[in-house]
Amino acid sequence: MKPAAFEYIIPESLDHLLQIKAEHGDEAKPLAGGQSLIPAMNFRMARPSLLVDLNRLPELAWLHVKDGELQVGTMTRMAELQHNPTVAAHVPLIAETVPHIAHPQIRNRGSVGGNLAHADPASELPVVAVALGARFRAISASGERWIPAHEFFLGTFTTSLQPQEILLEVTFPTRQDRTGYAFAEVARRHGDYAMAGVVAVVSLNAQGQCDSAQLVYLNAGDSPTPAVTAAAMLIGNSGTPAAITAAAQHASMEEIAPYGNLHASTEFQRHLARHLTQQALKTAFERARAEFLPHP
Ligand SMILES: Cc1cc2nc3c(=O)[nH]c(=O)nc-3n(C[C@H](O)[C@H](O)[C@H](O)COP(=O)(O)OP(=O)(O)OC[C@H]3O[C@@H](n4cnc5c(N)ncnc54)[C@H](O)[C@@H]3O)c2cc1C
Repeated sequence: MKPAAFEYIIPESLDHLLQIKAEHGDEAKPLAGGQSLIPAMNFRMARPSLLVDLNRLPELAWLHVKDGELQVGTMTRMAELQHNPTVAAHVPLIAETVPHIAHPQIRNRGSVGGNLAHADPASELPVVAVALGARFRAISASGERWIPAHEFFLGTFTTSLQPQEILLEVTFPTRQDRTGYAFAEVARRHGDYAMAGVVAVVSLNAQGQCDSAQLVYLNAGDSPTPAVTAAAMLIGNSGTPAAITAAAQHASMEEIAPYGNLHASTEFQRHLARHLTQQALKTAFERARAEFLPHP
Protein backbone atom coordinates (compact mmCIF):
# COMPACT_ATOMS: atom_id res chain seq x y z
CA MET A 1 0.00 0.00 0.00
CA LYS A 2 1.04 3.57 -0.51
CA PRO A 3 0.21 6.53 1.71
CA ALA A 4 -2.33 9.22 0.86
CA ALA A 5 -0.75 12.34 -0.63
CA PHE A 6 1.08 14.57 1.83
CA GLU A 7 3.39 17.56 1.94
CA TYR A 8 6.86 17.27 3.48
CA ILE A 9 8.96 19.91 5.14
CA ILE A 10 12.36 20.04 6.81
CA PRO A 11 12.23 22.79 9.45
CA GLU A 12 15.30 25.00 9.64
CA SER A 13 15.27 25.22 13.43
CA LEU A 14 13.29 24.31 16.52
CA ASP A 15 11.54 27.70 16.33
CA HIS A 16 10.56 27.00 12.74
CA LEU A 17 9.22 23.58 13.74
CA LEU A 18 7.11 25.16 16.49
CA GLN A 19 5.76 27.77 14.06
CA ILE A 20 4.69 24.98 11.71
CA LYS A 21 2.97 23.15 14.57
CA ALA A 22 1.29 26.39 15.69
CA GLU A 23 -0.10 26.88 12.19
CA HIS A 24 -1.10 23.31 11.33
CA GLY A 25 -1.66 21.57 14.69
CA ASP A 26 -2.32 17.83 14.43
CA GLU A 27 -2.27 17.95 10.61
CA ALA A 28 1.51 18.47 10.85
CA LYS A 29 2.87 15.14 12.06
CA PRO A 30 6.43 15.02 13.37
CA LEU A 31 8.42 12.42 11.44
CA ALA A 32 10.99 10.93 13.81
CA GLY A 33 12.37 7.47 12.94
CA GLY A 34 9.26 6.74 10.87
CA GLN A 35 9.14 3.14 12.15
CA SER A 36 5.50 3.45 13.24
CA LEU A 37 4.27 6.52 11.39
CA ILE A 38 5.22 5.38 7.88
CA PRO A 39 3.59 1.91 8.19
CA ALA A 40 0.47 3.60 9.65
CA MET A 41 0.40 5.95 6.65
CA ASN A 42 0.96 3.10 4.22
CA PHE A 43 -2.03 1.29 5.70
CA ARG A 44 -4.00 4.57 5.57
CA MET A 45 -4.48 4.40 9.32
CA ALA A 46 -2.83 7.83 9.48
CA ARG A 47 -3.39 10.48 6.81
CA PRO A 48 -1.50 13.61 7.88
CA SER A 49 -1.45 16.35 5.26
CA LEU A 50 2.04 17.46 6.31
CA LEU A 51 5.09 15.58 7.57
CA VAL A 52 7.60 17.66 9.53
CA ASP A 53 10.96 15.91 9.50
CA LEU A 54 12.81 16.07 12.84
CA ASN A 55 15.87 14.23 11.55
CA ARG A 56 17.81 17.33 10.46
CA LEU A 57 17.62 19.12 13.82
CA PRO A 58 20.74 18.03 15.73
CA GLU A 59 19.61 20.02 18.79
CA LEU A 60 16.92 17.36 19.38
CA ALA A 61 19.35 14.41 19.77
CA TRP A 62 21.43 14.37 22.95
CA LEU A 63 21.60 12.81 26.37
CA HIS A 64 23.38 13.56 29.63
CA VAL A 65 23.10 13.11 33.39
CA LYS A 66 22.40 16.21 35.44
CA ASP A 67 20.76 16.93 38.81
CA GLY A 68 20.06 13.26 39.52
CA GLU A 69 18.33 12.69 36.20
CA LEU A 70 19.14 11.13 32.86
CA GLN A 71 17.96 13.81 30.44
CA VAL A 72 17.28 12.62 26.90
CA GLY A 73 16.48 14.68 23.81
CA THR A 74 13.51 13.43 21.83
CA MET A 75 15.47 12.39 18.70
CA THR A 76 17.96 10.23 20.59
CA ARG A 77 17.79 6.84 18.89
CA MET A 78 16.85 3.78 20.89
CA ALA A 79 20.14 2.17 19.86
CA GLU A 80 21.93 5.02 21.63
CA LEU A 81 19.96 4.32 24.81
CA GLN A 82 20.92 0.67 24.54
CA HIS A 83 24.65 1.16 24.02
CA ASN A 84 25.58 4.43 25.74
CA PRO A 85 27.56 3.53 28.92
CA THR A 86 26.15 6.60 30.73
CA VAL A 87 22.67 5.12 30.43
CA ALA A 88 23.76 1.70 31.69
CA ALA A 89 25.60 3.24 34.64
CA HIS A 90 22.90 5.64 35.77
CA VAL A 91 19.60 4.05 34.69
CA PRO A 92 20.43 0.35 34.26
CA LEU A 93 16.74 -0.53 33.87
CA ILE A 94 16.72 1.28 30.52
CA ALA A 95 19.79 -0.56 29.24
CA GLU A 96 18.20 -3.85 30.33
CA THR A 97 14.86 -3.12 28.68
CA VAL A 98 15.72 -1.50 25.35
CA PRO A 99 17.16 -4.67 23.71
CA HIS A 100 13.63 -6.11 23.96
CA ILE A 101 12.25 -3.33 21.74
CA ALA A 102 11.93 -4.56 18.16
CA HIS A 103 15.12 -5.34 16.20
CA PRO A 104 18.50 -3.58 15.81
CA GLN A 105 17.53 -1.96 12.51
CA ILE A 106 14.40 -0.49 14.08
CA ARG A 107 16.28 0.68 17.17
CA ASN A 108 18.85 2.37 14.90
CA ARG A 109 16.12 4.54 13.40
CA GLY A 110 13.42 4.58 16.09
CA SER A 111 13.69 7.51 18.48
CA VAL A 112 12.94 7.82 22.17
CA GLY A 113 10.39 10.58 21.53
CA GLY A 114 8.72 8.69 18.70
CA ASN A 115 8.42 5.55 20.80
CA LEU A 116 6.89 7.45 23.73
CA ALA A 117 4.64 9.76 21.65
CA HIS A 118 3.32 6.75 19.74
CA ALA A 119 1.92 5.50 23.09
CA ASP A 120 1.49 1.87 22.14
CA PRO A 121 0.28 -0.03 25.25
CA ALA A 122 2.50 -2.95 24.16
CA SER A 123 5.65 -0.80 24.20
CA GLU A 124 8.37 -1.27 26.77
CA LEU A 125 9.74 2.26 27.21
CA PRO A 126 6.46 3.86 28.38
CA VAL A 127 6.25 1.22 31.13
CA VAL A 128 9.80 2.03 32.23
CA ALA A 129 8.94 5.75 32.19
CA VAL A 130 5.89 5.29 34.42
CA ALA A 131 7.68 2.91 36.82
CA LEU A 132 10.61 5.28 37.30
CA GLY A 133 8.50 8.45 37.51
CA ALA A 134 9.94 10.02 34.35
CA ARG A 135 8.93 13.54 33.27
CA PHE A 136 8.14 14.72 29.76
CA ARG A 137 8.94 18.21 28.47
CA ALA A 138 6.38 19.40 25.93
CA ILE A 139 7.00 22.58 23.96
CA SER A 140 4.96 24.78 21.64
CA ALA A 141 5.37 28.27 20.19
CA SER A 142 3.55 29.65 23.24
CA GLY A 143 5.64 27.98 25.95
CA GLU A 144 6.58 24.70 27.55
CA ARG A 145 5.40 22.45 30.37
CA TRP A 146 6.50 19.31 32.19
CA ILE A 147 4.17 16.29 32.25
CA PRO A 148 4.65 13.40 34.72
CA ALA A 149 4.81 10.06 32.90
CA HIS A 150 1.63 8.76 34.54
CA GLU A 151 -0.28 11.75 33.09
CA PHE A 152 1.31 11.55 29.64
CA PHE A 153 -0.23 8.26 28.47
CA LEU A 154 -4.01 8.70 28.14
CA GLY A 155 -4.88 5.58 26.13
CA THR A 156 -3.97 3.53 23.08
CA PHE A 157 -1.96 5.79 20.74
CA THR A 158 -3.16 8.80 22.77
CA THR A 159 -1.08 11.17 24.89
CA SER A 160 -1.70 14.43 26.68
CA LEU A 161 0.35 16.35 24.08
CA GLN A 162 -1.72 19.20 22.61
CA PRO A 163 -1.97 19.62 18.80
CA GLN A 164 0.54 22.48 18.77
CA GLU A 165 3.02 20.72 21.05
CA ILE A 166 5.92 18.39 20.41
CA LEU A 167 7.77 16.23 22.90
CA LEU A 168 11.19 17.81 23.36
CA GLU A 169 12.83 15.88 26.19
CA VAL A 170 12.28 13.11 28.71
CA THR A 171 14.05 12.78 32.05
CA PHE A 172 14.46 9.59 34.07
CA PRO A 173 15.58 9.59 37.75
CA THR A 174 18.97 7.93 38.13
CA ARG A 175 19.47 4.74 40.17
CA GLN A 176 19.14 4.87 43.95
CA ASP A 177 21.06 2.93 46.59
CA ARG A 178 19.39 -0.21 47.93
CA THR A 179 16.92 -0.13 45.06
CA GLY A 180 16.51 -3.01 42.65
CA TYR A 181 15.13 -2.68 39.13
CA ALA A 182 14.06 -5.51 36.85
CA PHE A 183 12.25 -6.01 33.56
CA ALA A 184 10.70 -9.24 32.30
CA GLU A 185 8.57 -10.00 29.25
CA VAL A 186 7.48 -12.89 27.04
CA ALA A 187 7.30 -12.49 23.26
CA ARG A 188 6.73 -15.24 20.72
CA ARG A 189 10.02 -14.32 19.06
CA HIS A 190 12.71 -12.00 20.36
CA GLY A 191 11.96 -8.53 19.00
CA ASP A 192 8.23 -9.09 18.55
CA TYR A 193 5.82 -7.07 20.62
CA ALA A 194 5.48 -8.90 23.91
CA MET A 195 2.37 -10.80 25.02
CA ALA A 196 2.99 -9.63 28.58
CA GLY A 197 5.68 -7.72 30.43
CA VAL A 198 6.42 -5.99 33.71
CA VAL A 199 8.82 -3.57 35.35
CA ALA A 200 9.49 -4.08 39.08
CA VAL A 201 11.21 -1.48 41.25
CA VAL A 202 11.88 -2.24 44.91
CA SER A 203 13.60 -0.04 47.52
CA LEU A 204 14.78 -1.38 50.87
CA ASN A 205 15.38 0.44 54.17
CA ALA A 206 18.49 -0.10 56.33
CA GLN A 207 16.83 -3.16 57.90
CA GLY A 208 16.35 -4.76 54.48
CA GLN A 209 12.58 -4.25 54.40
CA CYS A 210 10.79 -2.87 51.41
CA ASP A 211 9.82 0.77 51.88
CA SER A 212 8.60 1.46 48.35
CA ALA A 213 7.69 -0.65 45.33
CA GLN A 214 6.39 -0.21 41.81
CA LEU A 215 4.89 -2.77 39.45
CA VAL A 216 3.91 -1.53 35.98
CA TYR A 217 2.70 -3.71 33.09
CA LEU A 218 2.64 -3.53 29.31
CA ASN A 219 -0.20 -4.98 27.24
CA ALA A 220 -2.35 -5.00 30.35
CA GLY A 221 -4.81 -2.24 29.47
CA ASP A 222 -4.84 0.71 27.08
CA SER A 223 -1.73 2.34 28.57
CA PRO A 224 1.07 1.42 31.01
CA THR A 225 -0.79 -0.25 33.87
CA PRO A 226 0.42 0.07 37.48
CA ALA A 227 -0.56 -2.52 40.08
CA VAL A 228 -0.69 -0.20 43.05
CA THR A 229 -2.24 -2.53 45.62
CA ALA A 230 0.05 -5.44 44.78
CA ALA A 231 3.06 -3.15 45.11
CA ALA A 232 1.78 -1.89 48.48
CA MET A 233 1.46 -5.49 49.69
CA LEU A 234 5.27 -5.68 49.60
CA ILE A 235 5.88 -2.75 51.95
CA GLY A 236 7.55 -3.91 55.19
CA ASN A 237 8.47 -7.27 53.65
CA SER A 238 11.98 -8.47 52.83
CA GLY A 239 10.92 -10.15 49.62
CA THR A 240 9.94 -13.57 50.91
CA PRO A 241 8.67 -16.06 48.31
CA ALA A 242 5.23 -15.98 49.95
CA ALA A 243 4.97 -12.19 49.72
CA ILE A 244 6.15 -12.17 46.11
CA THR A 245 3.69 -14.91 45.17
CA ALA A 246 0.80 -13.06 46.84
CA ALA A 247 1.66 -9.76 45.13
CA ALA A 248 2.01 -11.46 41.74
CA GLN A 249 -1.33 -13.23 42.20
CA HIS A 250 -3.10 -10.00 43.16
CA ALA A 251 -1.59 -7.94 40.35
CA SER A 252 -2.31 -10.48 37.63
CA MET A 253 -5.86 -11.35 38.72
CA GLU A 254 -7.18 -8.10 40.22
CA GLU A 255 -5.32 -5.11 38.85
CA ILE A 256 -4.38 -5.58 35.23
CA ALA A 257 -6.91 -5.73 32.40
CA PRO A 258 -5.34 -7.37 29.34
CA TYR A 259 -7.50 -7.48 26.22
CA GLY A 260 -6.20 -10.71 24.73
CA ASN A 261 -5.19 -10.91 21.08
CA LEU A 262 -4.47 -13.38 18.27
CA HIS A 263 -1.47 -14.81 20.08
CA ALA A 264 -2.60 -14.82 23.70
CA SER A 265 -5.98 -15.03 25.40
CA THR A 266 -6.71 -12.81 28.36
CA GLU A 267 -6.28 -15.80 30.68
CA PHE A 268 -2.90 -16.63 29.17
CA GLN A 269 -1.77 -13.00 29.50
CA ARG A 270 -2.73 -13.06 33.19
CA HIS A 271 -0.88 -16.35 33.61
CA LEU A 272 2.23 -14.84 31.98
CA ALA A 273 1.93 -11.67 34.04
CA ARG A 274 1.84 -13.69 37.26
CA HIS A 275 5.02 -15.61 36.41
CA LEU A 276 6.81 -12.55 35.06
CA THR A 277 5.95 -10.60 38.21
CA GLN A 278 7.43 -13.33 40.39
CA GLN A 279 10.55 -13.40 38.26
CA ALA A 280 10.96 -9.61 38.14
CA LEU A 281 10.30 -9.13 41.86
CA LYS A 282 12.76 -11.86 42.82
CA THR A 283 15.44 -10.19 40.70
CA ALA A 284 14.58 -6.69 41.95
CA PHE A 285 14.81 -7.78 45.60
CA GLU A 286 18.14 -9.54 44.98
CA ARG A 287 19.55 -6.46 43.31
CA ALA A 288 18.24 -4.16 46.05
CA ARG A 289 19.88 -6.34 48.70
CA ALA A 290 23.30 -5.79 47.19
CA GLU A 291 25.01 -3.43 49.67
CA PHE A 292 25.17 0.21 48.68
CA LEU A 293 25.65 0.09 44.94
CA PRO A 294 28.99 1.40 43.71
CA HIS A 295 28.58 4.82 42.20
CA PRO A 296 29.72 5.14 38.60
C1 LIG B 1 8.62 -4.79 13.04
C2 LIG B 1 8.48 -3.83 14.19
C3 LIG B 1 8.56 -4.31 15.48
C4 LIG B 1 8.42 -3.44 16.55
N1 LIG B 1 8.51 -3.93 17.82
C5 LIG B 1 8.40 -3.07 18.87
C6 LIG B 1 8.53 -3.52 20.21
O1 LIG B 1 8.72 -4.70 20.50
N2 LIG B 1 8.41 -2.60 21.21
C7 LIG B 1 8.20 -1.28 20.97
O2 LIG B 1 8.11 -0.48 21.90
N3 LIG B 1 8.10 -0.83 19.70
C8 LIG B 1 8.20 -1.69 18.67
N4 LIG B 1 8.09 -1.21 17.40
C9 LIG B 1 7.79 0.18 17.21
C10 LIG B 1 9.01 1.00 17.11
O3 LIG B 1 9.78 0.90 18.28
C11 LIG B 1 8.44 2.37 16.93
O4 LIG B 1 8.20 2.52 15.59
C12 LIG B 1 9.27 3.45 17.34
O5 LIG B 1 9.47 3.34 18.69
C13 LIG B 1 8.63 4.78 17.00
O6 LIG B 1 9.64 5.65 16.99
P1 LIG B 1 9.96 6.47 15.65
O7 LIG B 1 11.08 7.39 16.00
O8 LIG B 1 10.11 5.57 14.51
O9 LIG B 1 8.60 7.33 15.52
P2 LIG B 1 7.74 7.68 14.25
O10 LIG B 1 7.24 6.44 13.62
O11 LIG B 1 8.44 8.65 13.38
O12 LIG B 1 6.54 8.45 14.99
C14 LIG B 1 5.62 7.77 15.78
C15 LIG B 1 4.55 8.76 16.25
O13 LIG B 1 5.08 9.68 17.18
C16 LIG B 1 4.95 11.02 16.72
N5 LIG B 1 6.15 11.73 17.13
C17 LIG B 1 7.43 11.38 16.86
N6 LIG B 1 8.27 12.22 17.48
C18 LIG B 1 7.51 13.11 18.14
C19 LIG B 1 7.79 14.22 18.97
N7 LIG B 1 9.05 14.59 19.24
N8 LIG B 1 6.77 14.92 19.50
C20 LIG B 1 5.50 14.57 19.24
N9 LIG B 1 5.15 13.53 18.47
C21 LIG B 1 6.15 12.80 17.92
C22 LIG B 1 4.80 10.89 15.21
O14 LIG B 1 4.16 12.03 14.66
C23 LIG B 1 3.98 9.63 15.12
O15 LIG B 1 2.62 9.90 15.39
C24 LIG B 1 8.21 -2.06 16.32
C25 LIG B 1 8.15 -1.57 15.01
C26 LIG B 1 8.27 -2.44 13.95
C27 LIG B 1 8.20 -1.88 12.55
